[in-house]
Amino acid sequence: MIKITIARDFIEPGMRHRPMTNPSSSLYGKKMRAKKITVHEAWTTATAEQLHSYVLSQRAADRPASWHFSVDQFYIGQSLPLSESGWHAGDGLGPGNTQTIGTEIIDRGIRANDDPDEFWEAVGASCQLHAWIIQNCETLLPFPDCLELFPDTFAQHYHWSGKNCPALLRGMPDGWSRYLDLVEGYLREDAKEDVVAKIQRAGEKEVIVIYDDNLVEGLDPDIDRAWIKENIVGDEDPYQDKKKANYRVIVASYEDREKSEKDLEKIQQLFPTKEPFIALNEVDDKKYYRVVLREVETRPQATTVVTATKEKWNNAWTVSDWEDLPLPDEDEPEPEPEPEKSEAPEAPEEKEKGLPDWFVDLLEKLLVFLKGILK
Ligand SMILES: [Zn+2]
Repeated sequence: MIKITIARDFIEPGMRHRPMTNPSSSLYGKKMRAKKITVHEAWTTATAEQLHSYVLSQRAADRPASWHFSVDQFYIGQSLPLSESGWHAGDGLGPGNTQTIGTEIIDRGIRANDDPDEFWEAVGASCQLHAWIIQNCETLLPFPDCLELFPDTFAQHYHWSGKNCPALLRGMPDGWSRYLDLVEGYLREDAKEDVVAKIQRAGEKEVIVIYDDNLVEGLDPDIDRAWIKENIVGDEDPYQDKKKANYRVIVASYEDREKSEKDLEKIQQLFPTKEPFIALNEVDDKKYYRVVLREVETRPQATTVVTATKEKWNNAWTVSDWEDLPLPDEDEPEPEPEPEKSEAPEAPEEKEKGLPDWFVDLLEKLLVFLKGILK
């Protein structure tokens, strides 16, 4: 068992990558009310301690780039207070940067050592850290809402800017849901006697307890290893989105669009971390509305997704050479008025009177999807 105390060494006030203390930033003097935690992977052979030194440096200021936590299984460095925003989400003054806490998970286990176990140990530490943040940051939803509401408290960097990050958690079979399961494990009521109680008792001492056996139940490193072998070649940066979606996993298909939409809703509830959508497929003058759960690059990935999906939903199959059409125009939903872009992260009261967050998120997803199929 290893105990980690969060090393608090903040970026010097006034530097360009600590915007709420930098007089030339439009965020100067403001306070962040965090709504979510944004999960990143660092794609580096550095340790968390080394990455933490980097984020404090002038080089990071020049980019500018900054985040709150650098974490691996031995070290957690905090470089920004929870009440200040950084530059990590790639969405400018959008909600990713101004309303979320950014965590960089060290992935040197994969980058340097080809070792999924080592990577998941760092992920496990990150999940314990995230459990601690949820219990200590009062603007975040408490458990279980933080995990159960759609969309939940955890966002991938991808959500804000489309960058393929965290690429390993996104790409490994069920990587993201395994990550959420781990966080839940550390927050669950019935785990009180275990890690959770220690995290809670630690309180302001900020001790994160890392167990050697903290890996998610059912974790199979061989599946991860196979995925890594197939997807990560040498020094190639997996965080650049080069993936081709050759295979689709379909979970429903009807001629009646309403039926597909009903199933889509159920699928969204069953798989809150996926981004399912409807695609139109025409066969012999018949129109089928397909509910697509995921697009993946290889057949083995598709098979893995189908198997995992069938544990919760009895109908799932793979299509490869699909030729889906854009959805017909007349059925497109009325565009909602753009929610007012809030550059002031400390003004959530105003935002709460407008559209609920989950609805705005849903609209954003719909827009991305529509853009995708209209290409
Ligand atoms: Zn990222």
